[in-house]
Amino acid sequence: TTEQGEIRASYLVNAAGVYGEVVSEMVQERSFTIHPRKGEYLLLDKSQGNLVHSVIFQTPTKMGKGVLVAPTVDGNLLTGPTALDVSEKDDVGTTAEGLEKIRKEAGKSVPDIPFRDVITSFAGLRATPDTGDFIIEASGTVKGFLNVVGIESPGLTAAPAIGEYAVDLLGKEGLPLVPRGDFQPVRKPAVRFREQTDEEKQRLIRENPLYGNVICRCEIITEGEIVDSIRRPAGARSLDGVKRRTRAGMGRCQGGFCTPRVTAILARELRIPEERVTKKGKGSELLAEKRGPSC
Ligand SMILES: Cc1cc2nc3c(=O)[nH]c(=O)nc-3n(C[C@H](O)[C@H](O)[C@H](O)COP(=O)(O)OP(=O)(O)OC[C@H]3O[C@@H](n4cnc5c(N)ncnc54)[C@H](O)[C@@H]3O)c2cc1C
Repeated sequence: TTEQGEIRASYLVNAAGVYGEVVSEMVQERSFTIHPRKGEYLLLDKSQGNLVHSVIFQTPTKMGKGVLVAPTVDGNLLTGPTALDVSEKDDVGTTAEGLEKIRKEAGKSVPDIPFRDVITSFAGLRATPDTGDFIIEASGTVKGFLNVVGIESPGLTAAPAIGEYAVDLLGKEGLPLVPRGDFQPVRKPAVRFREQTDEEKQRLIRENPLYGNVICRCEIITEGEIVDSIRRPAGARSLDGVKRRTRAGMGRCQGGFCTPRVTAILARELRIPEERVTKKGKGSELLAEKRGPSC
């Protein structure tokens, strides 16, 4: 049962991250536990993106790969993560101790990192299983139910292979694996205005003047790109959705300038009042509802 009502299915894949054991126990008896292991990061401004030219790893420990210093694909400098077992599955706050640990540990690999250029800090939770490995298996007791949980690091790297393995398991459970005739394997790439030549930028603006309106000044993201991120298949429906697809709000000011402007574009495109635009779904509305004049 979901917020949108009851959904019936013959096959069910549990890929609920740190909540993997909770979902599994809705279906079958407990056979594993998953505890959250927090990792905090500090992200530095693009002015420091050239401080290192490859990912600098430390010697791994039993808690993970250690604090690394890495250039990001978008030109920032990333330091972290820490690794600390926590008790709550929604504890994604950063801590003074965690961030201090990053400064200290990263400094062992690269001395004198200018941490005054940090533009944001954040944390995530690894879904650490007590089995010591990813849990990718069909339930022995409930036909059609698959657990794909305990996918801690390097689960992102392993995701394509995990997907193929899970498909095989579903086939063995009886799911007919028939390729969809209308499947489109190639997706039209999104326009990255800032990466175009001057001639290409002029052509884009001529064809669609929205590309001439820069909304996020730090990352040079245009209204054309934001509108496209909302209108394209599986389009953005929230500020974070736009951010992840376009990088609007990921720059030095972290959305201080563009958040109200992206909010207005989302409201216009989704035909909803600005008060209903959210950061990341229901319950994260940014603006209070307008009220009538008080007497
Ligand atoms: C600090 C840190 C560093 C990492 N470093 C690396 C790395 O260097 N390389 C690498 O490859 N991987 C890395 N990872 C691991 C990678 O992020 C994970 O392996 C990957 O995100 C796991 O994917 P998942 O789909 O299993 O779980 P998640 O990405 O956690 O997705 C689970 C989803 O299920 C949803 N959900 C939960 N409960 C319910 C419910 N009841 N109903 C509906 N939805 C629900 C959640 O909202 C979430 O969207 C790192 C992770 C962390 C935290």
